[in-house]
Amino acid sequence: MNSMTNYPDDFQKCATFHGHVCPGLAIGYAAVKASSGLLKSSGSEDEELVCIVENNSCSVDAVQALLGCTFGKGNLIFRDWGKQVFTFYDREKGKAVRASFRQPSSEREITHNLRKKIEAGSATDDDKRKMQELRDEFTSALISEPTKFFDIKEIALDPPAYAQIVETLPCAICGEQTMISRMVKKGDSMICKGCAQ
Ligand SMILES: [Zn+2]
Ligand SMILES: [Zn+2]
Repeated sequence: MNSMTNYPDDFQKCATFHGHVCPGLAIGYAAVKASSGLLKSSGSEDEELVCIVENNSCSVDAVQALLGCTFGKGNLIFRDWGKQVFTFYDREKGKAVRASFRQPSSEREITHNLRKKIEAGSATDDDKRKMQELRDEFTSALISEPTKFFDIKEIALDPPAYAQIVETLPCAICGEQTMISRMVKKGDSMICKGCAQ
């Protein structure tokens, strides 16, 4: 098993942010690395770099740790499409790079079978060790050869909207201040989504 110090410093930074080392985190790391040649941007001090992520799994934490694209700054846009696809948009250059993860089919088959056994509770200690080994190998491969795992291309993209300060109103039921753009109409009053459910 790899010890943390075997990983590059910037991957260790991702792992510290995320809380553990996993192949998912390495996918996000590799997406950034594989795109950086085309992107040539080191990070996002402000909002000039935007990342559109099409999943909300471990990988997104690497994007946040490496690039400083975060929900709070509004330069991390989440699309709930269940895909390991990352689009990086450089506002200064008006340039977008799309990185789509290509999982090797051999990796998918082996881990799929082992995962099934582990989930079913029928995995032996050997199976579990094997699974961990495969995960470590895959993590290392992603880190050392990121471009091998991604289809990278420059795409045309309209500039994503900036984070906006939206007016708020108290919800007619709970009284909590709520962004008007997120409220639901009920009769003559406006209520929050929590109360609408
Ligand atoms: Zn993880
Ligand atoms: Zn409410």
